[in-house]
Amino acid sequence: MQIGIDFGGTKIEAAALDGNGTIVTRIRRANPGNYDDAVRAVRDLVRMIETTAGRRGTVGVGTPGSVSPTTGVMRNSNSLYLNGQRFREDLSEALMREVRLANDANCFALSEAVDGAGAGSAVVFGAILGTGCGGGLVVGGKLIAGANGIGGEWGHNPLPWPSVQENPGPSCYCGQHGCLEQWISGSGLQRDYLSHARQPMNAVDIIAQARAGNDKAENAFDRFVSRLARALATICNVVDPDVIVVGGGLSNVAEIYERLPGIIRAHVFSDAWSARIVPAQWGDSSGVRGAARLWSLEEALARKDTAFVNPK
Ligand SMILES: [Zn+2]
Repeated sequence: MQIGIDFGGTKIEAAALDGNGTIVTRIRRANPGNYDDAVRAVRDLVRMIETTAGRRGTVGVGTPGSVSPTTGVMRNSNSLYLNGQRFREDLSEALMREVRLANDANCFALSEAVDGAGAGSAVVFGAILGTGCGGGLVVGGKLIAGANGIGGEWGHNPLPWPSVQENPGPSCYCGQHGCLEQWISGSGLQRDYLSHARQPMNAVDIIAQARAGNDKAENAFDRFVSRLARALATICNVVDPDVIVVGGGLSNVAEIYERLPGIIRAHVFSDAWSARIVPAQWGDSSGVRGAARLWSLEEALARKDTAFVNPK
């Protein structure tokens, strides 16, 4: 049994996968908002699942942020109390077993690569377009977390091929200017609309207005698609994925799949380009599914009957 934890800022969700990849148990609770209670919350969710199932499982955790390779502590998480903590080790101790932990966008990419919209493809790039902009890379079924834990992380690369109006771009909380996250996210679309139309509108309404033929909304959506295509073209020029799986709230906008290929093709360094760009299969479940997949099914089966082992 593979247990996955989706550690979100407002809620913590846990699910167990059986050998067929079917979710057999799924529970969630509110994120308690402080470190010690959060560790206990994860422990209790795993205990509940294992009590229900009557057996132990492997545990993988997906969370915003990542583990610093130099200090071993969490960084860049939007659950700020996690930053500076040895979260993986503390969960291992609380659960008396090795726990694997990965960035939530990496878990999304892994989930879609294993048995989602990217299943069967050699190189899968997962892009999450929500309030922010995250990414993950899976090659040959293996998550590329990277030497420094930033594999697939594209949200704080600058917008490529910027126009004069796009340069230097808005300042970003990371300290840079023009980061992709400031452009190709729901909040980026809203900021762009506001700066051109001089009135606020939320991303859902901008899409609806663009479909209805409103000029300002159409222009904002055109700029959004162009920026997304340029950002993806740089990914294609580096890792040349077979498939790009799009998740997050903006993945529901069907028009992006029709329009992206033509613009990407115009920017990649190749006479032909034919990657598939598809919406995610698993939606909100990709967090728990990908976290569970941080352990392979074979590893989970091998550990089924092992005694409690504390890695410390
Ligand atoms: Zn940034």
